[in-house]
Amino acid sequence: MEEKKCSSCKRKVVNDKGSVTFKCPQCNDVEVVRCTECRANAVKYNCGCGFIGPN
Ligand SMILES: [Zn+2]
Ligand SMILES: [Zn+2]
Repeated sequence: MEEKKCSSCKRKVVNDKGSVTFKCPQCNDVEVVRCTECRANAVKYNCGCGFIGPN
């Protein structure tokens, strides 16, 4: 089983019902994981392709 971790804080999101997983909007290849807390605080994440979110 795959263990998902938040892309920003690296916290496991297995039991985090408010977490979201989506493909990077730039490369459409890498899965970005966002935990509830990072979403609430609009914490930045970076994809390996150089994209920096949340937008
Ligand atoms: Zn997080
Ligand atoms: Zn990307």
